[in-house]
Amino acid sequence: MIFTVAIDGPAAAGKGTISRAVAARFGFRHLDTGLLYRAVGAKGGDPVAAARALTAEDLARDDLRTLEAGQAASRVAAIPEVREALVAFQRRFARSEGGAVLDGRDIGTVICPEAEVKLYVTASPEVRAHRRWLEVGGDEAQVLAEVLERDARDMGRADAPLRAADDAVVIDTTALGIDEAVEAACAVVRARFRPE
Ligand code: C5P
Repeated sequence: MIFTVAIDGPAAAGKGTISRAVAARFGFRHLDTGLLYRAVGAKGGDPVAAARALTAEDLARDDLRTLEAGQAASRVAAIPEVREALVAFQRRFARSEGGAVLDGRDIGTVICPEAEVKLYVTASPEVRAHRRWLEVGGDEAQVLAEVLERDARDMGRADAPLRAADDAVVIDTTALGIDEAVEAACAVVRARFRPE
């Protein structure tokens, strides 16, 4: 059984939480594709070489969740050769036997346009910044500035910019709790998933 759930959207909209919950609920594997770009950014040196030589160890670093790692990821993610080096792995994962959930920025538009389910998870910048600030602390205005900067870079880049696929279902989590957002996503998957 091949079944792909593509979940795209801006930083801190709730993609990660929703993706993990959908994967657990339906027994699918989950790939957080942002981690690939974070690992490339964190490696330093030539980002194209880093993307081509990415290892499981690189993905296991414990400093990939910081604001700095997010900014570095979004800078290297604008380089077409970096994106190209990561495409095949993501496509294989998406179409592997047993079902897969991938979350990122270009899953429904570029990596897996044939995905059976496409979700675009979003929320207001203020709410997203507040959620991120609860995780990382520091100055909330600074966190909002970083969220806006990353949004602008991810949406404005020429190669695979962040946008909702035409056939994506949009889930706005601005006024939703975690459970409501997860239920909204699971309802879309349930309506399309028909295991033999
Ligand atoms: O989702 P996360 O915040 O971990 O992503 C970090 C950065 O990696 C994003 O801001 C984006 O620039 C990049 N990214 C991407 N395409 C993806 C996933 C992440 O360009 N599929």
